[in-house]
Amino acid sequence: LQIINPKYVASAVRKDQYPELSLPEIAFLGRSNVGKSSLINSLCNQRGLARVSGEPGKTQTINFFSAEIREKDHDEVMRTPLCLVDLPGYGFARAGGKKRQMWSSFISEYITSSPRLRMLCLLIDLRHPGLAIDGQAYDWLAASGVHLQIIGTKSDKLKSNEKKKNLAILDAMFPADSSAVAYSALKKEGREVLLERFINTIAD
Ligand code: GDP
Repeated sequence: LQIINPKYVASAVRKDQYPELSLPEIAFLGRSNVGKSSLINSLCNQRGLARVSGEPGKTQTINFFSAEIREKDHDEVMRTPLCLVDLPGYGFARAGGKKRQMWSSFISEYITSSPRLRMLCLLIDLRHPGLAIDGQAYDWLAASGVHLQIIGTKSDKLKSNEKKKNLAILDAMFPADSSAVAYSALKKEGREVLLERFINTIAD
């Protein structure tokens, strides 16, 4: 499985700025610095697509990327067009009070009002599976009723027994529509499984 033709389409902070692509949307969110940009770039095999931030919490817009998943089955090539949606990271120290409120209002506007949103991917650092702030995000996303996928990021930083243990913690703490996936942007672990789940959810 491969993602081909990834393209930046638009950035938005309000509903009237969402691009009209009529593509099924897969959205990504998580704490600032969790590895979201790296995941989007590595899924798409394109380094500079989403910005890998030196400065956490800077991306404060919803960014839309169009792409296609290509699946080769013997001689047949199947294509699944989709839109990847990069939601701003939450929970960085400087975003208290008003800013945090703004964050949740424009993200919740997107989650509740995009008719094409098919799957929410919540990224959680696999080394720290029990943070309260991720629990709050989870409660909120789970209540939205959108298909939820938990992704444990930076899996290359854990030994395989720790990885297993922390994935089980994620599954127990954050029950979702399918089991948590360990992901490494560095090693591309989890890439194939995720792309498969995207295709299946979109086809549902
Ligand atoms: P974002 O703020 O969630 O978009 O996070 P970034 O993608 O900018 O990543 C934050 C930091 O974590 C960067 O220094 C990345 O190089 C590092 N990082 C991201 N993904 C991985 C990974 O899978 N493995 C390792 N070892 N480091 C990662």
